Amino acid sequence: DKDELVRTLTSLDGRGYGSYKQLKGTYDLGPCRLLIDHVQTDPFAPPSLMRLVVDAEAANLPQDLIDDCRGRVAVTDFLARVVAKEASSLHGVSIGTPQQEVLERTSIALTDQGLEARISVQLPAAGRRIKGREASRLLTEDLPRLAERSLLHASIDVDALRAHATLHRDQEALRDQLAERHLVAFVGDGAILPRRSGDSDLPLTDGAVPFDSPESLRVTFDLPSGRQVSGMGVPDGVTVIVGGGYHGKSTLLRAMERGVYPHLEGDGREWAITRGDVGSVRAEDGRAVTGVDISPFISGLPSGTDTRSFTTTNASGSTSQAASLVEAVDAGASALLIDEDTSATNFMIRDERMRVLIPADREPITPFVDRIRPLYKERGVSTVLVAGGSGAFFDVADHVIALDEYVPRDVTDQARALADEASSEPSGAVFGPARSRTPDPDSLRPADKKKPATARGRDIIRFGREQIELAAVSQLVDSAQTEAVAKALDRLAELAASSSANQGATQLDAAIRDLFARIDADGLEALSPHRGHPGHLARPRPLEVHAAVNRYRGLQVVRG
Ligand code: ADP
Ligand code: MG
Repeated sequence: DKDELVRTLTSLDGRGYGSYKQLKGTYDLGPCRLLIDHVQTDPFAPPSLMRLVVDAEAANLPQDLIDDCRGRVAVTDFLARVVAKEASSLHGVSIGTPQQEVLERTSIALTDQGLEARISVQLPAAGRRIKGREASRLLTEDLPRLAERSLLHASIDVDALRAHATLHRDQEALRDQLAERHLVAFVGDGAILPRRSGDSDLPLTDGAVPFDSPESLRVTFDLPSGRQVSGMGVPDGVTVIVGGGYHGKSTLLRAMERGVYPHLEGDGREWAITRGDVGSVRAEDGRAVTGVDISPFISGLPSGTDTRSFTTTNASGSTSQAASLVEAVDAGASALLIDEDTSATNFMIRDERMRVLIPADREPITPFVDRIRPLYKERGVSTVLVAGGSGAFFDVADHVIALDEYVPRDVTDQARALADEASSEPSGAVFGPARSRTPDPDSLRPADKKKPATARGRDIIRFGREQIELAAVSQLVDSAQTEAVAKALDRLAELAASSSANQGATQLDAAIRDLFARIDADGLEALSPHRGHPGHLARPRPLEVHAAVNRYRGLQVVRG
């Protein structure tokens, strides 16, 4: 087998790149099997997809770490990091680059075959010619060594693996308890929230002030490992974070935003844990909006446009924020995170003088400050809001937290003393029931779309001729998640087409729910259109799949 592969590759040396095609197949290479699933057609095409497989007995992973779903996520994440580290010294070999979050990924899998590492390999070329000897060394020596150093029992650091899985289970167990304890988020005492720099997700090392909860908000959790953690619980309802500029408000909110995912040991945010269905909402002028009911915030436009089903190819700051908010709530977000830094001022507040000068019936926008309580009362959606520039939210806050040189204090009573009790609540319901739109199946399958949707880094999905821009979708954190969202869009398009052929068009939220049910049942690779190597995918949340569909400029909805 190995000799055969060596012979084949040697004989291919100097031939046209396309001859690599014949490598497809399975090879027994001693410590591992090599499965070559997909061979790139030329040196500049996306790399070839291969799997390294060792028998379950050879990996001999501790059974108690892999007999539950969470254990398997942690174990495969751990091994993906080991493989990534080993692969970094091999030119052209990759398993993706896991960041600070521990996510369910397709890059390592425990299957009937054993333990699989799904790698991508840039097959060596000189111009457009095959470098056979180099390829032979890579495939028959370097890759088996990689498998040996990362997947075989003797090379696995079982204590570190166990610690990784134990932390992960504790973090998720804490998240499980948040809703029943009526908390949106938890930030543990001692957490290091600031990052090293704007373009690094690593913890700040110099001068970081560890988090220290105000006594009044301190809560304690007992976790499955026997560990107990204490810290600040952010309650359901409306919580406003105030404080001077540069005192750490956005840093705290951002930690809650990222807290929907579990972080690695040593990250500093291990115990910043947020309910999994919390959505971050910001202004994003220029985005497209299709058929969204933004009438709770914007109505009576001078143009006469119906804002109960609002469509635009170029939203303003305030309309984009209103649309993103309604979309997140309709997609099931149980709480919203909003930062003044990334909000449209006219969406958030309107001051008294302006209310006098421009009467309400001449102003299409009802600011968020007037809608934040109805949102909680009618829809049960909580808000955590950073507002250092305006006291307007004191009137509507259940809790006010002040940051003073990065140290949080509970200033709810002082803020309440300053609040204007006269603030009026609207008489009738403003939000109405959740509404789901039904995408026109044809709009999800444009005739000129010939290729599968793909991610270009974290921020962009190519969908036919359209680019879906996701830079403002801040809780999409890994390009492998973006790749998974791209694949999800293709699967949704298929679902929409087949259901419209059978029983009529399907609502967007039902279709996305079905898709996630399939992922839960069959694993993340259910997103892949073919068997074998599914590509490097990481699990996104339903909210981010909604966000991508909603930003697709070709989307059309069926009126109903
Ligand atoms: P704000 O939103 O209140 O203006 P930021 O959250 O943007 O403040 O933080 C301002 C600066 O302080 C950032 O550079 C951030 O990294 C740093 N910072 C935030 N929290 C801490 C902390 N706990 N310890 C040290 N530095 C911090
Ligand atoms: Mg800020």
